[in-house]
Amino acid sequence: MQGFFVLLILLIEKIIKIYMQTWLNNRDIVIEENKKFLFQLTKQKLKEVASKANEVHDEVFERIDCLDCANCCKSIPPIVNQTDSRRIARYLKLSESLFFQKYLCKDEDGDTVINQSPCPFLESDNKCQIYEVRPKACREYPHTNNHEFVKNIRLHTQNTQYCPAVFHIVEKLKEIYK
Ligand code: SF4
Ligand code: SF4
Repeated sequence: MQGFFVLLILLIEKIIKIYMQTWLNNRDIVIEENKKFLFQLTKQKLKEVASKANEVHDEVFERIDCLDCANCCKSIPPIVNQTDSRRIARYLKLSESLFFQKYLCKDEDGDTVINQSPCPFLESDNKCQIYEVRPKACREYPHTNNHEFVKNIRLHTQNTQYCPAVFHIVEKLKEIYK
């Protein structure tokens, strides 16, 4: 019985590796195809697309462990809104202005974001130092399991480059809508 579980764990690890490798090998190659495909989804029934996207989101995240990846935390500075800022500053026992000074800045769109990439709260084991109070944008990333899937298609197209899960969600949607 123990042998069975060891084999199962090895198999899962292999699937995770294949998932990551497929993403790395193909994310640039299929970017144009994905742009066109995601745009075409705007012509489908939006609720149905969101529901299918939710299903494949769950399926993909059964095979991907964010702690093996953390690519979003390493490459995309998240938006930090005022409520996030207040909550995180309190957690770090900093005044809001000192928190802003140390960790935040305005980006080119005027949004307040974390001022460094990789994120200064990312630990060496890929855990988030402020996980319980992390920004809303981090909690909701990669935005593929909500009813606004189609509204965010430009974002999903960009995210296929950063997030292996989004890449595989789009691949699965392509199989459904081919
Ligand atoms: S990039 Fe995607 S798969 Fe990787 S940690 Fe972030 S959400 Fe998880
Ligand atoms: S705050 Fe935490 S979850 Fe958000 S980017 Fe930084 S390390 Fe990642």
